[in-house]
Amino acid sequence: MGDLCALAKVARQVLERVVSRVCGACERNCCHQGTMMGIQDLRRVVRGLRVDAELAERLRTGLKEKAFELEADVAAARQVLSLVKSSGLGDERAHCLAEARIADLEDLAKMLAAETPLDYPHLQRLLLHTALRHNLLRAFRSFPMGEGALARFGGPASSFKFRGSRLAPPRCIFHSLTLGCMAGKWKPAKCANFFCTADPSLLDAIREHMDFDDFVLANFEPATMDWILANLKAQAELGPSYHEPMVIVGMGKAQAEELRDRLEAAAVETRMSPHPSVPFPPRVVEKVAAGVPAGTAELIRFRKLSGTDIYDLAIGLDRVRLRDAQRMLVFIAETLEVPSSPPHALWLENTIAQPVGYLECYVLASGATQENRGQ
Ligand code: SF4
Ligand code: SF4
Repeated sequence: MGDLCALAKVARQVLERVVSRVCGACERNCCHQGTMMGIQDLRRVVRGLRVDAELAERLRTGLKEKAFELEADVAAARQVLSLVKSSGLGDERAHCLAEARIADLEDLAKMLAAETPLDYPHLQRLLLHTALRHNLLRAFRSFPMGEGALARFGGPASSFKFRGSRLAPPRCIFHSLTLGCMAGKWKPAKCANFFCTADPSLLDAIREHMDFDDFVLANFEPATMDWILANLKAQAELGPSYHEPMVIVGMGKAQAEELRDRLEAAAVETRMSPHPSVPFPPRVVEKVAAGVPAGTAELIRFRKLSGTDIYDLAIGLDRVRLRDAQRMLVFIAETLEVPSSPPHALWLENTIAQPVGYLECYVLASGATQENRGQ
């Protein structure tokens, strides 16, 4: 599978270049509109932390950077509140409320600055950021010119900035000015699936530079057998709410059997489905997922999968995800069929999101070419 790994690498580079050129220039950067991460998305990040050696460092660096921003917001709010009090504006109740809202945001800033464990209970607090900041703004709106004063005293590090006549929404708590998305490849579905409503649109730019098969291939990462095994073991250890499906191409019958045997040796109950002759439409994917017991890994082998087949899998699996009923499903194919004829309808119809970005797609690679680095 060396050729497919090399082709996937080139396709990934092309896609990354388009994304960094277009997303850097767009005027409605989606990472600047509040936090897109939800509870289920956060579980994906936590699983990523088990298998992606660089993710923890990336998160730590990014969260420290965010701590500076929150500290600047807290400092601005304290300064404004002190002026409000000394000017005799507002009553004691309003002052106490503003004080409490500042303290809430300050707690979060302290957590970000500290070496907090990067586990689900701690990281879950990050999801509160938008609400805490919103509550603080609401408390300050009760003072004349309160919001404007926050922006004036905010300084360059603060998130309190005007956009037009209103304060801009905060950047996503996972957005770092130096790293981009701290979650890297473990970002939420909405972000990973190239959801874009900007003009010019990211997807239009992608279509200009890539055909359907190149785009699908760009979503494949080279991954070793050891890494795939570690990923599945992490899912099993973390429990059913952390299960996610994956697609592996370049894996023949003998290697699929090796994967099954090694999973079983690691005490993960594993089933190998009979070899289906035709790839699954989305409704069949949903049915298959419903028949797999939570906690069991189901390996489903195909001789080949095309980009269109992978789109259908992604659509069906996304429906399963939205019902919070994911299973440890592993779709294995010996080869990736190119070209897909025709490309999937969602690609041809220019829809504003493409489903394949969120699906974990791997090309089986030798140990030396492992590339899962959280990018
Ligand atoms: S995905 Fe679209 S809206 Fe989001 S930053 Fe990129 S171009 Fe802008
Ligand atoms: S890509 Fe990352 S930083 Fe941007 S909105 Fe999504 S989670 Fe937040």
